[in-house]
Amino acid sequence: MNLAVLGATGSIGASTLDVAAAHRGRFRVFALTAHASADALLELCRSHRPRYAVLSGVSENAALERKFKEAGSELLFGRAALERVASDAGCDAVMAGIVGAAGLASTLAAARAGKRVLLANKEALVMAGALVMRMARESGAQLLPVDSEHNAVFQCFSDRRTVLKIILTASGGPFRSLPLEKLAAVTPDQACAHPNWVMGRKISVDSATMMNKGLEVIEARWLFDLAPERIEVVIHPQSIVHSLVEYVDGSVIAQLSNPDMRVPIAYALAHPDRIASGARALDLAAMKSLSFERPDHERFPCLQLAYAALRAGGTAPTVLNAANEIAVEAFLAGRLPFTSIARVIAETLESIPGSDAGNLDAVMQADAAARRKAGERILRGQAA
Ligand code: NAD
Ligand code: MG
Repeated sequence: MNLAVLGATGSIGASTLDVAAAHRGRFRVFALTAHASADALLELCRSHRPRYAVLSGVSENAALERKFKEAGSELLFGRAALERVASDAGCDAVMAGIVGAAGLASTLAAARAGKRVLLANKEALVMAGALVMRMARESGAQLLPVDSEHNAVFQCFSDRRTVLKIILTASGGPFRSLPLEKLAAVTPDQACAHPNWVMGRKISVDSATMMNKGLEVIEARWLFDLAPERIEVVIHPQSIVHSLVEYVDGSVIAQLSNPDMRVPIAYALAHPDRIASGARALDLAAMKSLSFERPDHERFPCLQLAYAALRAGGTAPTVLNAANEIAVEAFLAGRLPFTSIARVIAETLESIPGSDAGNLDAVMQADAAARRKAGERILRGQAA
């Protein structure tokens, strides 16, 4: 199987290449992409020898092109090259591992081209779920969830008519038990120090606010075609149970593993087979306990904002996602307190009228309007 790894220099990219390299006879790396980190991408090309390498945030540069050529890869530049490799006839499967709205166009291109899409880029489904699902249906593309929760549900989901609900687990992040009055002063490094997972900085902040779980509720709505009231969230601090499916007879089926993204990635890569992932085996007896609790909505207002946007429908989730990206970026740059992330998102949602999200233009317009509004709100906050 020829594999394109979009976002190869990121955390998901590294785990994907690790699994693929352990099964070289089964997976051939066809393309690797990064936004701007040319050196890291070149290093990956030397080990994995893809036919194409893409630097989506760099304009043409002959010296770089030569270096990649020496490593055996043709280097392409600019955003359009992401869509080109994702839909290339020589590629069978696409790991959508770019973070944020920047991953939408290439995820859509892979879905339109009928590829096996390994979906890590949840923001694509949050922004434009109806569109992505429609494209995949029309082209026959296979959308396989990589997000650990959705991958777990996918593994436990059998007869959909008898599914009562799905239960997504959340770790609660680094601030699950921090005294509430201390939340306003937390730093980006504290927010990115996740107790169980090592991930990119944006998703780490999302986990700390629990917006990550909110985005995942919306992602689940599209992947499993369930109404919001049939998608539940429970806090599970150990991150061993990755999610559960409850059936009409009272049975609840769960998927468990050590927290290691190579498990869901290996499952999505090899589906319907199972292959070794490299993850450590689970030692049940060594674990003292697995605990569960309800999310605290005062501490984690972002979760409720995501449910509200999902219920409102149309472009509301697009607006939610864009405002979140702008607010998280400002928080990471030290321009916005942690507790204002939810406020910026709530005010942006209130100020932008919802519209239909059935076409890409409408989605991109809502995304741009939300980015503008959220940016203005952050600047006003700084001036005040
Ligand atoms: P990361 O920050 O580690 O890596 C992001 C990758 O995307 C890098 O290769 C980077 O070069 C590329 N990129 C960044 N901005 C870009 C742009 N504007 N255009 C093109 N490429 C760009 O992120 P990550 O943690 O690997 O997360 C990637 C995606 O997977 C996110 O959508 C995240 O929500 C999802 N996800 C991650 C994990 C995890 O464990 N890391 C788990 C579940 C889901
Ligand atoms: Mg997840």
